[in-house]
Order: sequence, then C-alpha cells, then structure tokens
Amino acid sequence: MSEFKGGYVGRIGRIDLASQRATDETLSPRLVRDFVGGRGWSAWIAWSEIHQSVAPLGSENKLVIATGPLTGLLTTASGKTTFASISPQTGIYGDSNVGGMFGPELKYSGYDALIIEGKAERPTYLLIDEGRVEFKDASHLWGKGSYETEDIIKNDLNDRRIKIASIGPAGENLVKFSCVNVEYGRQAGRTGIGAVMGAKKLKAVAVRGSKDVAVADFERLRSLFDEAMQVALNHKDLRMWQRQGTLQILDWSNDNDCLPTRNFQAANFEAIGGIDGYAMESKTKVSNKSCFGCPMGCGQFSIVRSGDYKGTAAEGPEYENAALLGSNCGLEKIEEVVHANYLCDDLGLDSISAGSVVAFAMECFERGLLRSEEVHGLNLRFGNAKAMFELLKIIASRSGIGNLLAEGVRVASEKIGKGSERFAMHSKGLEISGYDSRGAQAMGLSYATCDIGAHHNRSWAITYDLKVGRTTYGEDKVKWVIHLQHLRPMFDCLGVCRLPWLELGIPPELYVNAYTAATGMSSSLEGMLKVCERVWNLTRAIAVRKGVSGKDDWLPDRLFDDPVPTGIAQGMVLDRSKFEKMISMYHRLRGWDTKGTPTKEKLTELGLKDVADAL
Ligand code: SF4
Repeated sequence: MSEFKGGYVGRIGRIDLASQRATDETLSPRLVRDFVGGRGWSAWIAWSEIHQSVAPLGSENKLVIATGPLTGLLTTASGKTTFASISPQTGIYGDSNVGGMFGPELKYSGYDALIIEGKAERPTYLLIDEGRVEFKDASHLWGKGSYETEDIIKNDLNDRRIKIASIGPAGENLVKFSCVNVEYGRQAGRTGIGAVMGAKKLKAVAVRGSKDVAVADFERLRSLFDEAMQVALNHKDLRMWQRQGTLQILDWSNDNDCLPTRNFQAANFEAIGGIDGYAMESKTKVSNKSCFGCPMGCGQFSIVRSGDYKGTAAEGPEYENAALLGSNCGLEKIEEVVHANYLCDDLGLDSISAGSVVAFAMECFERGLLRSEEVHGLNLRFGNAKAMFELLKIIASRSGIGNLLAEGVRVASEKIGKGSERFAMHSKGLEISGYDSRGAQAMGLSYATCDIGAHHNRSWAITYDLKVGRTTYGEDKVKWVIHLQHLRPMFDCLGVCRLPWLELGIPPELYVNAYTAATGMSSSLEGMLKVCERVWNLTRAIAVRKGVSGKDDWLPDRLFDDPVPTGIAQGMVLDRSKFEKMISMYHRLRGWDTKGTPTKEKLTELGLKDVADAL
C-alpha cells in the first residue's frame, strides 16, 4: 500500500470490453510515488502494458482515462482528466487532456483511473455508476453525432446531470484525428484517441458518483484554495479572460505574425476583425462556461443569430479553433468559425488537425494537385466555408477523398506527392497547432521535440522568443523549452488546469503544496519537475521502441523555405543548419545520445533502470 492519506481514491478499474468483465485494482506504490497521476500514469501504463508490436487500432491497444491527485478537490481549476493510448495518428504515445466535470465525477464514483482493454462485439457504452461498471448496448447510438449521443444517453438514464465522454461518426470510422467529446463541447482533441474508442466499438463512457474523496489536511487545502482565489480574483486580466477566453490571443498572435493563415502560407490574416474575440463578443457570445472549481471561466458559449448557420450552438470558439479552422482555412466570419467548431465537436474531429487537413487540401486544390472531380466537385478555395463544411463531413464518413484525408496530412501528402509534402504541416504525424514558428525558434523546437507530435500545450515557448529575439538559436532557448516541457505537464499529472498559473499568476508551488495537503505526501516543485522529467523520458522511450529517432525531431520544409510574406516578421524563416544544431543541443542537454535516445545513465538517474534494460 502506498503512503498517501488522501487525494487519491486508491482504485483503478480495469475493463475488458470483449468479455464484459470489470475488475478493481489497488493503486500501486510506484504509480503514486513515481508518476503522480494523469499523464504520468498513462505513460507508465502505455510503456508497461502495451507491447511495442500492438497496432494502435488493434484490440490489444488500451485506452487509459486518468485523473490526478487534485482532480475534483478543493483546488483551483481541478477538473482535468487525461485520455491516452498509443496514437493511431502518430504510432507513438498519445494523450489529450480535457476539463469540465467528467474527471471529478469519475473520482466521486470511486475510480482514480480506468484502463479499457479489448474490443466489444457490438457498439457499447459504459455506465460507471457509483463504482459499478455496466456494459450497455449502444447500437442505437452508432452513427450519431456527439451532441445527440449525449442527449439520448441522458434521456435513457433519465439523468441530465450525468457526465459523458463520447465519440462522433469520425471516431467510429477510425478517422486518425478523431477526438473524444466531453460534456457536449469540450474535446480531448489530440492524437486520435476517438479512433481508439471507435476501434473498440466503445461509443461513450457515462459516469456519476457521490462518494467522498479523503483529504489528508483539509484545513491546509482550504487555506491554499483561498490564497489561490485571492490571487486569481484580484488579477487585472481576469475580466478579459472571462470576456473572450483564449480567443483574445488571436489579435496578439496576428499582431506578432504567428497566426497560421491559409495553411501557414502567411502569418497574419487581413480579415482578423471578422473572427477575433471582439467579433465573438458582439455577434455570437451568449455566456461563459467554466470547468470544475475554476474562477477564470475561459470557456465561451456561442449561438449564431442570423444567416446561413442561424441556430448553430457551440462551446467556443477558443484560440485554436479560430486559428486553425478560421484564418488557416481563410474563413472571414465568426459565424462560420462557430459552425466549423460545432461540426468538429459533433462529428468528433480534433479541430486543430481538422483545420490543418482542410487547409492542406485547399492548398492542394489551388495548386492544381487535387482536381475538382477528386474533391466531390467542391470549389475548395480558401475562404469557401460551404465547401469546407462539406469536406469535414466527407472526412468524418471517409467517403471518396475523405478516406485519404482521414489519415492526416502526413499520409495524405505522401499519397498525393508532387511536392505537397513540403507544406504538409505536421511533426511526427501530428498536425502543428496554432503558432507559426518561422520567427520563433523556441516554439519551433517545442513542436519538433514534443513527445506526442507537434502540440503547443507541452511547451508554449513563443512568448520567450518574442521576449529575447526572433532570430536566435541559443542554449537559453533550448533550456527554456526543456524547463517548460516539465513544468507545464506537471499540471496534467496533478489533474488541474495550467491557465490560472500561466495567465493569473497563481504560483506553481501552491499547487505542489495543495498536492501535499491532499495526499499527505511531501513534495517540492523541484521534486515534481523530476517526476515530469521521468515521464518525458518514458514517453521518449516508448517512441524509440516504436522506431522514432532524433531525425524525426523535425519540422516541415515550409518553415525553412518560405519566408513570412508580410508584416513585422516579413522575411523570417528558420535556418536549417542552426535549427539542426539546436536539436542536437536539446538531445545533449537532455542526456540523450546523438540519435536522440535516452542514455542508460539518464534513465537510471530517473529511477527507470528497468526501462533502460528493456530498451
Ligand atoms: Fe477550464 Fe478555462 Fe478554467 Fe482551464 S481556465 S479550468 S480551460 S474554464
């Protein structure tokens, strides 16, 4: 038994869809001590339980749903949960983090985490009800969008408050970048976890619970919560976050020439005023939405009030939606972005990858690499919202060209050829999220070295580039990226949102103190960062086992060859040779060898000798 006195429930549910059996397991001391929770647990389970030969969409792949020790407790913004697996999109470890209330409810039902194995014989959904697992027939839900799926389950169970994670048709059809939708509009978006559920014929997981979670020192936890709330509520930027959420970043990104525009051909968008936070506030915003225990309420809720898409309702748009589905596809109206946002949620597509895939197809079309008859007669020009919406449906159903685009830009560009590989905007198969890095070397390094493929969330280093200079490739940037790659995932391990730290100034040490108050286990920020370094090396070990090496830590040619055409970053482009040296420096500073493999010494130092021996 581990020495924790609270924070954790102490129980993992292992669920076999094939035999319809559910068993409970006690949290192992190693999971608690060395991997903390959430992303850390998922990485360890992926390493220790999923053989390297397992196909991501095979029945032997596993889906992990993991909370952290602070999820659902009296801590600021503690609604986070990790969905993880071996990714069908990248072939390596993949995870995605989602807020809302699903994670807290899972914990109140009596589970810290679920490990879902096997493949159901027919469409199934899981009902986790106060710690009991039921396998429910989901035949009547198969083919339905995520929104309708939630409605039907809630009606069937006569419970409007039950928390649901589901997939849409995209996940059922094994679209490689399909997401898991949680509570209608929140996405565990990245790395194709929705396709893993689809391959298992798992349509949804519904949870409800009312059990208490023990806390080692409740008074201390409450006082830390009060302290955090004081910091948050007195912050000068709080109101703006409540007004526009992350969408406020769009203008900043545009002003600094890092906004993906028309498949990263440009880095600023001439129609920015039609899709930014002010457009949302004046035209579509209805209210805020908040995750569990969060004073920020950065979530926005929109309804289109007039025009072709009148009546469309969606949670959002947030920054990544507006960047990838908006400017990157040339959409000029917020109503169109809201509709694209809604379609991605309902069809179950990761909005970042979906925007990138559509933009790639649009550029292929404009360059004559895809002909009209190959794209269902659509006039697939940038800015054509109607054509874009049709294409999203075609991708989700895998019909015609959709079957190819459903594989993501890496595979699609390999098949289309004719030079399209140079503007297929991905790293390791994961489409790049919403920041152009031609004038941002640390951000480029973050994408190239991210353990799940090109995702901004692990290391949002672009502000550092803007602060210290947009043409430098120094050691300071490499060290900063490594630091962020440990600090930011710490929040994913603990089960809390990082935004109140990042944007409202709640100190990271406060979350570590909350961990100690909740669990009774002492720690320090340094100790937590060590855990996250361990997890980073572990996910790298999984990637190495799957054949990834240092040469895969790279970016698309466009970022090296096509200078930013206009704006304050005009002419900026990454320098291949300097970037290559930066990557080598990154490997060396991490204690990895010249091939980008963690050394035996590094893994042993991190308490992963068994991983080193197996590697
Ligand atoms: Fe959710 Fe936003 Fe609060 Fe984070 S800051 S917990 S995403 S509402």
